[in-house]
Amino acid sequence: MNDFTAFPFESLPDLLLPWYEANARQLPWRRTKEPYRVWISEIMLQQTRVEAVLGYYDRFLSALPDIPSLAAAEDDALMKLWEGLGYYSRARNLKKAAQQIMEQHGGSFPEAYGDIRALSGIGDYTAGAIASICFDMPTPAIDGNVLRLCARLADSAADILLPATKKALEAPLKAAYKKGRCGDITQALMELGATVCIPNGAPLCGSCPLSCRCRAKAAGTAEKLPVRIKKTKRKEEYLTAFLFTAPDGRIALTKREEKGLLAGLYALPTASGTLTEADAATAAEAFGAKPERLVSALQYDHVFTHITWHVTCYRFEVAPPGENAPFLFAKPGEYALPTAFMKGLKLM
Ligand code: SF4
Repeated sequence: MNDFTAFPFESLPDLLLPWYEANARQLPWRRTKEPYRVWISEIMLQQTRVEAVLGYYDRFLSALPDIPSLAAAEDDALMKLWEGLGYYSRARNLKKAAQQIMEQHGGSFPEAYGDIRALSGIGDYTAGAIASICFDMPTPAIDGNVLRLCARLADSAADILLPATKKALEAPLKAAYKKGRCGDITQALMELGATVCIPNGAPLCGSCPLSCRCRAKAAGTAEKLPVRIKKTKRKEEYLTAFLFTAPDGRIALTKREEKGLLAGLYALPTASGTLTEADAATAAEAFGAKPERLVSALQYDHVFTHITWHVTCYRFEVAPPGENAPFLFAKPGEYALPTAFMKGLKLM
């Protein structure tokens, strides 16, 4: 097994670019080099499948077509546009970064790598993608797809979950970047990783334009790579959620704390632990929700990156909420609700 410095990345573009031109999927964000649009697509695509992003991208850009409109967006409207995409801090950071651009760069997307990297929510990967795609800079954008592809090309047994492995790939991979084609190199590497050098099973080496250079293919190690050593087990959390329904069909919502999981988002009221029906009724009284009837109960799980929630959800009919109701009462769908709660709402 080798490390990345021993691999001739400079030999890839001649094979990679013709393949990309012939095989790239036609995706809306590939029709533009406008930084605002590329930025939005890159943030949406983090931890999210291309198919899932397709439904959101155009809708988001129609509602917020430029940096000033994003900087001035109402939080609730922004969350509604993001509803269902998950990782809501991404949307908050987009707005924060748009405000930074308004204040520090006169509303124009910055062109220097350091200025792009300094924007809220933009890490090495996103900065590399924007700088190469929009400004033709030789700045590799190394995500999971690219790491897997390069680990196999170089037949490297380095643990790709370690930040040091990503760092070690950066300089050697720069050799693959040719002036005038930097954006295409970034996108071609991602595309090959996503569609041919695929995870979880056998890569499609028979369709790979780089197979004649690939050291893992030659060594017969492609299916064993990349190495990913998981250290932490996902935490388990048990909680009880309350669906309080008023006679007019509105439901009770509360805002989560500004720190922690799903920070600052609307949510169903919750209590920690798995409450019995009787305890749930007592807790509902204590909330001041005026429960009149328990309608139904169910359990479901929701998996986040580091935590699994085991949710017990109780639906109570409650008395019409007065002016001093302890919750905001709203029609289902009026405010963005994270998927972890939408699941309960849909199931009930
Ligand atoms: Fe991946 Fe196979 Fe191509 Fe090597 S030859 S880069 S393992 S798809």
